[in-house]
Amino acid sequence: MKPFKSALVIHGGAGAHGPAEERAPRRQAMIAAVKAGAALLRAGGEALDAVIAAVKVLEDHELFNAGYGAVLNTAGRVEADAAVMLARPGGPADGPQAQACRGGPTSAPIGAKVHIGAGAVAAVSRVRHPVELARAVMERTPHLLMAGAGAERLAAQAKITRCRPHELISPRARERWRARIEASAAVIIPSASEQGTVGAVALDWRGTLAAATSTGGVSGKLPGRIGDSAIIGAGVFADLHAAASATGEGEAIMKAALCRQAVQLAGSIGAQNAAERAIRLLAELTGGRAGLVLVSRKGQIGFAHNAQTMEVALLDSGGFARHLWLAPLAGAGPARRRR
Ligand code: ASP
Repeated sequence: MKPFKSALVIHGGAGAHGPAEERAPRRQAMIAAVKAGAALLRAGGEALDAVIAAVKVLEDHELFNAGYGAVLNTAGRVEADAAVMLARPGGPADGPQAQACRGGPTSAPIGAKVHIGAGAVAAVSRVRHPVELARAVMERTPHLLMAGAGAERLAAQAKITRCRPHELISPRARERWRARIEASAAVIIPSASEQGTVGAVALDWRGTLAAATSTGGVSGKLPGRIGDSAIIGAGVFADLHAAASATGEGEAIMKAALCRQAVQLAGSIGAQNAAERAIRLLAELTGGRAGLVLVSRKGQIGFAHNAQTMEVALLDSGGFARHLWLAPLAGAGPARRRR
């Protein structure tokens, strides 16, 4: 018997309801993404491979705010953020990051019972799949977070497909950017209301927990703005208790260290309670709007948000992919009408 029951849940962002005609294609893409991750888990693959496979499907889809189709900053460019994190039972692994934590390749390993790995990239414009570059930071460097041109140079070394900045810009994103600029000629107010950031969390049969998040950030953002999706503990987190991925107002998510908060709570009150509690705490602390998905070491899943809507897809107990539009958590934010 397999010691752990694998689990996978993904999100396609929290925010305002998008156009009705986009709902069906979004749903199809989410189902395809969860199936891509599930196929790897079923074949005995690792949770990290599963979350990355799922996120990559959505990074390729123009309706999601990640990779191709990401929102543009005020200068009309994509600057993407992404992060991955994993907690693998069995002690520290090798590799430049593990060595750096121990103080160098020759130092004695610390007596950890888990290998925690994390990698993130910020403000990248030249890779189609920022989530893959986040993984390369984790696996190929002693660092945790790399930004801009330095991160993009790593893509070449890691043989990650690069692209020109304009190749990430979809006609839909360009049009929305133009409309926004025209509508608010004087001051452009950044907003996370355009739903579409993507993320995934998984548990594999060996007990490894992993999380990944990828985004173009908030629309109307200034060039150089970095959001929670690149920040370990905010937009992504994993430890031996659980793994979490967040979406919503990045500045609020960072102030609340949302994913770290939720993962820590999951150890004591279970995944669903932890997701709800973490969103309530964020709302109390910041007044912001956000959502998250969570999977615990026991294979329990949790999700909650206090935006207008949030979509998730998951494997149900029969192993079938299901897609859900989630209503906001009652009493955890400004009252909003459900459509
Ligand atoms: N959290 C993302 C950011 O602030 C945006 C989103 O999830 O919609 O960059």
